[in-house]
Amino acid sequence: MSDNPSFVLKGVEDVTFEQRPIPEIQPDEVLVEVQKTGICGSDVHYLLHGRIGDYIVEDPMVLGHESSGVVYKVGSGVTGLKKGDRVAMEPGATCRMCESCKAGRYQLCPDVRFAATPPFDGTLGRYYRIPADLAYPLPPNLTLEDGAMIEPLSVAVHAVSTLGSFRAGKNIAVFGCGPVGILCMAVAKAMGASRVVAVDIVQARLDFAKSYAATDVFLPPAPEKDESRPALSRRAAKAMREQLHIPERGAGSIDLVIDASGAEISVQTGLRICKAAGTYVQVGMGNPDITIDMGVVMSKELQLKGSFRYGPGDYPLAIQLVSQGKIDLKPLVSHRYKFEDAVVAFQTTRKGKSDDGKGVIKAIISGPDVPVESN
Ligand SMILES: [Zn+2]
Ligand SMILES: [Zn+2]
Repeated sequence: MSDNPSFVLKGVEDVTFEQRPIPEIQPDEVLVEVQKTGICGSDVHYLLHGRIGDYIVEDPMVLGHESSGVVYKVGSGVTGLKKGDRVAMEPGATCRMCESCKAGRYQLCPDVRFAATPPFDGTLGRYYRIPADLAYPLPPNLTLEDGAMIEPLSVAVHAVSTLGSFRAGKNIAVFGCGPVGILCMAVAKAMGASRVVAVDIVQARLDFAKSYAATDVFLPPAPEKDESRPALSRRAAKAMREQLHIPERGAGSIDLVIDASGAEISVQTGLRICKAAGTYVQVGMGNPDITIDMGVVMSKELQLKGSFRYGPGDYPLAIQLVSQGKIDLKPLVSHRYKFEDAVVAFQTTRKGKSDDGKGVIKAIISGPDVPVESN
């Protein structure tokens, strides 16, 4: 057992396949044979820019963090998992000692070892080592692709349920119809949403959102010549209210806004469309230096929250929602690749569509020697 082919980012736009040592596991860890890995915007961002904010790729790093696999080896102290178990892998191992870990917000742990966030290697290899409690057994009715998709679904669960405190009968507006935005809509729908409003500048993405989880869709107006973004956001919010009959408060108003786009105009419009005393959660990452109207935040007493990955309870709830049939992840897997074709998978995700013109929602790469069609 010495064969651990891995997909390694060496520098900007420089990736290669390399043999890496098979990780040694601690008594409380398991070694997982990775089966399915979804490609995320952040993986592509590291490939193109070598960094995200203060996270800079200085040494070669294995990519990938949205994974499922089969337990290959268990540490001496592990109970509840055995060789052959199919698991979803939560990719952030936290310190368990710091104030945030102790307070039950381990996503804020300063010492987290998160897959494919420098300097830590990711999951696009044959083997990945993980603390046993972060390997969640998959119920029999979930596929290994579902297991990989639990990662972005947990991001949505964290934003909508944990931070957004969403409840049945409430209304949500989601800006940005990429995978995370779509999954936020799915979570709201699964939780009994009354209205799920999707916003995006691409009509095809709105069409998919409508077919999948949204009750209403909105295509914002294009900017006029010399129109500032704040002015455009005022016009967009007004048009959105009129077209979709969204009142400022009461029945039909927006209790929770999620921005999954990171676009300045979406943030501005989202704050305006949120009801008084409503909640706004930022989950999309874009240019951090943007202008927002603090008067809107103050006068409506908006709860403005940042969302970072996922925390306690998010993976289990994500798995439950799928297992209970409340969320179907299968329509979101648009592309599938063999391990050897990882480069094509990244190129396709980056372009947003494959050569046949099919739009990418989520591309999945199979582990080394794992058949593409396997579940
Ligand atoms: Zn991701
Ligand atoms: Zn910690």
